[in-house]
Amino acid sequence: MIKTISYLGLGTMGSGMASNLLKAGYQITVWNRSPEKSESFARKGARLASSPAEAVRDVDLVVYSLSNDQAVEEVIFGTKGILSGIKEGQIAMDMSTVLPATSLREQEAYAKHGVDFLDAPVFGSKQESADAKLWIMAAGNKAIFEKVKPVLEHLGQTVHYLGKNGNAAAMKLVGNLIVALELEALAEGLVLAQKAGLDLSTVMEVVKVADFRSPLLVSNGQNILKRDFSTSFALKLMLKDAALIEKFAKSLQSPIPALRVVGKNLESAVTLGFGEENASALIRALEKEASVEVKGRSPFSPVKRSLKRGSRNQFMRVRKKSHPCAIGTL
Ligand code: NAP
Repeated sequence: MIKTISYLGLGTMGSGMASNLLKAGYQITVWNRSPEKSESFARKGARLASSPAEAVRDVDLVVYSLSNDQAVEEVIFGTKGILSGIKEGQIAMDMSTVLPATSLREQEAYAKHGVDFLDAPVFGSKQESADAKLWIMAAGNKAIFEKVKPVLEHLGQTVHYLGKNGNAAAMKLVGNLIVALELEALAEGLVLAQKAGLDLSTVMEVVKVADFRSPLLVSNGQNILKRDFSTSFALKLMLKDAALIEKFAKSLQSPIPALRVVGKNLESAVTLGFGEENASALIRALEKEASVEVKGRSPFSPVKRSLKRGSRNQFMRVRKKSHPCAIGTL
């Protein structure tokens, strides 16, 4: 039974997961490249480590969620990396989004040390991580998966076993291909709706109920209309994932023409300076091209202009009737 866990990488996703493991009663050791992010965990009872090698010593399970393949390789193979501290019988689990080939390299390296490995990336973002509502996929030895599953159940609302190592990483890229295309579709649709002069609050009301609805379209659409691009999943990480998907699909000769278009728009939005914003800021590239800004209608502008002076009461009645959503829902 797993009792002691090290968590490495306390970013947007890792901080939520490490907090939930602490809440679940595991003995937790944390390490983060920028040490200041570890301090709040020490106050909650976690042990702080000064390097990955120190963090992984004498724990049952080592978990990490790091930005990209390069970060994962540095933390595992680097000086004072995981491999210089981990011992036979321990289990390692990578929850980052990386290439399946990277997961396989991790598995091979750990196997040489007698360490079992699971790739276990996640769907869901900042809020789902904080609320232990992630959708988790895991791959590797089935018996090891069964041993780790109770830990994963403290982090997510679903846990799927995908089979051999690399399969969960592959599933994550398949899912993120769909996410990228959904975000592009939303952005293109909202820009077109704005150009067509549609009431965008009503557009979102339709998106919420129509047969193509999805929680991702609704939450991102509503935030775009509020011009809220605060980061749950950074645009620069979406661009990183687009590059991973392209590499992965190329290795399997699988066509991804639409993803290439999304990749270009993501690149343009990053070049415009929005890489640290939420991935929905992808729309900014299209807005620039279209010379428009998509936003929810201010309750007072367009209708008021069509009314005669002094008819404020009449205006309020018309506004409530014709633009219910402009008043407060978005
Ligand atoms: P994040 O907030 O940017 O955090 C990244 C973490 O990686 C930080 O702890 C960072 O340390 C660490 N890191 C980066 N480069 C490093 C290096 N060279 N050496 C050591 N540590 C390094 O990212 P996130 O949003 O939590 O995402 C983490 C992973 O989950 C990514 O693979 C991402 O694609 C995936 N993911 C994210 C979401 C999401 O919605 N955010 C959803 C699903 C999957 P510092 O604090 O020192 O920078």
